[in-house]
Amino acid sequence: MALEGIRDKVFIATKTMAEDTENFWRDLETSLSNLRTDYIDLYQFHNPSWCPKPGDGSGLYEAVLEAKAQGKIRHIGITNHSLAVANEAVDSGLYETLQFPFSYLASDRDVELVEKCKKANMGFIAMKALSGGLINNSRAAYVYLARFDNVVPIWGVQRESELDEFLSYVKEPPVMTDAVRELIERDRAQLQGEFCRGCGYCMPCPVGIEINDCARMSLMIRRSPSAAHLTPEAQEKMKLIEQCLHCGACKSKCPYGLDTPALLEKNLKDYLEILDGKEY
Ligand code: SF4
Ligand code: SF4
Repeated sequence: MALEGIRDKVFIATKTMAEDTENFWRDLETSLSNLRTDYIDLYQFHNPSWCPKPGDGSGLYEAVLEAKAQGKIRHIGITNHSLAVANEAVDSGLYETLQFPFSYLASDRDVELVEKCKKANMGFIAMKALSGGLINNSRAAYVYLARFDNVVPIWGVQRESELDEFLSYVKEPPVMTDAVRELIERDRAQLQGEFCRGCGYCMPCPVGIEINDCARMSLMIRRSPSAAHLTPEAQEKMKLIEQCLHCGACKSKCPYGLDTPALLEKNLKDYLEILDGKEY
């Protein structure tokens, strides 16, 4: 990345999963070195299982304040998948931004969290704004999030053409129409609730099941070009589910409280039926 000469025109946000000060400083120095800059605009604690605060014994918040005093960080943020930790972070008054999963599949409690951030003068960064690839209408995704003026989405762009698509919406914002509203309602009916977001926090699996793909195969196969999900390699990956040990390791780590082994079995059953010729 060539930042030389344009550093003041670029806003850099990055994050650390450190749970102690040694790893915190190591991660920060790695980011500064890799990004070839001497400061990070927004530095975030990434998905901690608790809300770091001064005096909590971890030393993390003291370290981030020290990094800010040294000019290595301009703003302090936090990311999370847990509503409880996210709410605690907002209530603490210690963070300038919260990054949390948010899209038009959001629940009422997620919307309340966005509004709470606004009242607390905190920015809200929408993680998984396309819900890990399950939302396949960028226009509808954009229109929904544009209603919230304190929300900045992470679209998860993979191709330059996708970036161009989103940039075109910034220039000429799409409007909410009856057709877009109906599409959102249809997707909400189909996708809200017990579905795998593909985040991968439950992995690794001791028998190598690619849970983040396999636990949402039924949706992927119907909502994206299906050929890639039906190759011999994809079939091998799905059939690995038969070797699940039911150890529960994945279930205990899923931030959405999903019964992951049961979800895998359900997806495998549907997949095998599709291979047998079921219409989908
Ligand atoms: S319960 Fe099954 S899928 Fe989950 S980690 Fe254990 S072996 Fe892997
Ligand atoms: S089962 Fe849960 S933790 Fe695992 S990929 Fe899906 S949403 Fe993420």
